[in-house]
Amino acid sequence: MKPVMALVGRPNVGKSTLFNRLTKSRDAIVADFAGLTRDRHYGNAKHGKHEFIVVDTGGFEPTAESGIYMEMAKQTRQAVAEADVVVFVVDARGGLSAQDHDIANYLRKLGKPTVLAANKAEGMTEGVQLSEFYELGLGEVHPVSAAHGQGIRSLVETAFEPLNLPDEEEEAGEVEAGVIKLAVAGRPNVGKSTLINTWLGEERLVAFDLPGTTRDAIAVPFERGGQKYELIDTAGLRRKGKVFEAIEKFSVVKTLQAIESANVVLLLLDATQGVTDQDAHIAGYILESGRAVVIAVNKWDAVDEYQREQLQRQIEARLAFLKFASLHLISAKKRQGLGPVWQSIAQAHKAAMTKMPTPVLTRLLQEAVQFQSPKRSGMFRPKLRYAHQGGMNPPVIVIHGNSLEHVTDAYKRFLEGRFRKEFNLIGTPLRIEMKTSK
Ligand code: GDP
Ligand code: GDP
Repeated sequence: MKPVMALVGRPNVGKSTLFNRLTKSRDAIVADFAGLTRDRHYGNAKHGKHEFIVVDTGGFEPTAESGIYMEMAKQTRQAVAEADVVVFVVDARGGLSAQDHDIANYLRKLGKPTVLAANKAEGMTEGVQLSEFYELGLGEVHPVSAAHGQGIRSLVETAFEPLNLPDEEEEAGEVEAGVIKLAVAGRPNVGKSTLINTWLGEERLVAFDLPGTTRDAIAVPFERGGQKYELIDTAGLRRKGKVFEAIEKFSVVKTLQAIESANVVLLLLDATQGVTDQDAHIAGYILESGRAVVIAVNKWDAVDEYQREQLQRQIEARLAFLKFASLHLISAKKRQGLGPVWQSIAQAHKAAMTKMPTPVLTRLLQEAVQFQSPKRSGMFRPKLRYAHQGGMNPPVIVIHGNSLEHVTDAYKRFLEGRFRKEFNLIGTPLRIEMKTSK
């Protein structure tokens, strides 16, 4: 699972600026997706060999006792509790405040690996100006400038140093070939545990224990119709003996980790509730993670004709950015509509793992350009020369040429459509990267 970094600190020290800096530019994402909601507080980051989830905890009031502040404090504490490392941000220009001391006390008691970042330190010399922050008793002070991108790499290196992360290659070696890693994601009460228990109760589905795994292992391997799967224990779900149970506390961080470690995510919605903000956020994360996705609307048995129509319109509007995904209307409780979901999961996985040979990609690219060439932008006319595959799950297509920074989003969408059609990419995001030769 990806490690989690939580950013804490009083308001205005630059947490959200740092968050944006850390999570910036998964530049491969095609265009801007209409209707993509981003919860600004959670994001993926990649720096050097470190890939991690960043949580911006917003304001931090460790002593808040009521109302909205208490709610925020609760969420902050949960985020800190779930984090592998905490970055405590202070304001190098504003200096220390009483609140900084409160937060430092809280963090020291917690005993989590904590890194102290003195932000807004551009143009400052380390020694004198930063010495007061040693008072916080959290060890070394790391000068950074979130706004100017200074000191970030060293901050990340320091933060993850004690975690001793396994090399990516080692982890990849553990994945058994041909196994589809599946996560069922959705907010509380949409019916995740009901669905999973219905599945596991089916005769066609054979759950087995892998040697060496314990009863409360975080993944359940099973086989269905000759295909091997691994069901990833998702946020809010825990395996208890043979059945899955919903636990009371929903965790965004655990949802993100589950999504990140899956190949295919089944996004579960609740027909009786419509598409809520939280659903849209989870959907946004799935898209950002690049995982393949299948959407299932559960509790279809409990809504009437009118509600069904409303719902379908709502999905088209609010989840427009997942329109490449198959949509199923199901009832986990009444065991209706479940078979086709499996077909879509397999299809989405196949699409995510598609191999796209360079000659075919290049031919498609040239045909597309012939059919409709990219618009001139001022003095520049983008020249798209050839394409090759840059990755799987999600598939990445890298296009080489000249002046490619002038290719419009509309044109990228046009290309995406052509590639999707040719390779039958149903159920997976597709990323298109442009590489301009000098
Ligand atoms: P948050 O409330 O902790 O999330 O703080 P913000 O990220 O919203 O930043 C608060 C203010 O500090 C904004 O006006 C930012 O532009 C500014 N700021 C953030 N990072 C830096 C920095 O590295 N240097 C300077 N000079 N200003 C910064
Ligand atoms: P989870 O929190 O996502 O795991 O949700 P649960 O599986 O615990 O289900 C929440 C509630 O929805 C329970 O009361 C279930 O009985 C109910 N439920 C689950 N699936 C269905 C369904 O297909 N139809 C109806 N009408 N209710 C369902």
